[in-house]
Amino acid sequence: MTLANLLQARIAQDGPMSVADYMTECLLHPTLGYYSTRDPLGPQGDFITAPEISQMFGELIGLSLAQCWIDQGRPGRFTLAELGPGRGTLMADMLRATQGVDGFHPAADIVLLEASPTLRAIQAKTLDAYAPRWITSVTDLPDSPLFLVANEFFDALPIRQFIRDDSDWRERLIGMKDESLAFGLGPRSPQIALKNRLEDTQDGDLVELCPSAIPIITVIAGRIATHGGAGLILDYGDWHSLGDTFQALHAHKPIDPLSSPGQADLTAHVDFEPLASAARAAGCAHSRLTPQGVFLERLGITARAQALAKPLSGSKLEALVAAHRRLTHPEEMGNLFKVLGLYPSYAALPPGLES
Ligand code: SAH
Repeated sequence: MTLANLLQARIAQDGPMSVADYMTECLLHPTLGYYSTRDPLGPQGDFITAPEISQMFGELIGLSLAQCWIDQGRPGRFTLAELGPGRGTLMADMLRATQGVDGFHPAADIVLLEASPTLRAIQAKTLDAYAPRWITSVTDLPDSPLFLVANEFFDALPIRQFIRDDSDWRERLIGMKDESLAFGLGPRSPQIALKNRLEDTQDGDLVELCPSAIPIITVIAGRIATHGGAGLILDYGDWHSLGDTFQALHAHKPIDPLSSPGQADLTAHVDFEPLASAARAAGCAHSRLTPQGVFLERLGITARAQALAKPLSGSKLEALVAAHRRLTHPEEMGNLFKVLGLYPSYAALPPGLES
């Protein structure tokens, strides 16, 4: 049975499904889901992320969080957590870079939130020396100071899409047409969660909601506000998204998101404003939304690249220069990707960010 057959049978029985239900099945179905069945970041993978482009990314993030830990008086026991750690590369680079930070490693409990058994096995190998622990929900994060990173995690969370119709909304749903999956529209209804979007949209505009992101941020921000710590949320997106950002990537190319369920990575741009509002509501301060390129430059990526370049020549040097450009240049990942920092209102901001 393919996932396409399974989804078609479900739609025949229950009627059209939301984009969020479709994303959840495609990404996380226990035996047929995209993340459950493969390593999407490997050599034969479908997409590449910042930590897989260069070690500099994880090193600078590790040092930014270690500086927060120092600024907050070096708490004696804390959680160093990552949401959606992929191949474990980012955490490995963070830990290598912070080896020399006196007392940091001995005080750290390394906790990873990962839904995919395949990726969990790869993380276990990469991070073997550091004895990490896995959790399945952020509510399992210990009650201790929390220093957390999430890179390209929120973009994988399921979204719902709505099209404005007068002062109501119609949800974009996935049903069947001529024996294939196809988009359609649900009935008109008011949406309390979209009340504030009546101000900046017109009839026919499409907006997206990521309902599962809010409880996750609420828990993280609550831990940071209560126990101290800091969070760095990095993803592609903006303060407010408008329009259809639902996309599928297969073999590094965009494809129709309905064409091969379970075979392609599905993502949507992250709408940072609701995340920031949820953090504030949980009593946590947040930084200004900052472009990734600006953040990495402030943390000294160019000096780090120069140091790494010293012994290199030829194609290795070219690869390093290209990686630096790819992470920071506004026409590459530098501007499309943003960073939101979470921190306790009494503490200093994470380095690289401003209020
Ligand atoms: N942060 C890594 C990987 C990004 S890919 C990097 O930058 O390279 C998205 C990651 O989030 C994968 O590890 C995926 O398995 C995980 N993931 C996606 N949805 C999840 C969910 N609902 N719960 C836990 N992990 C999830």
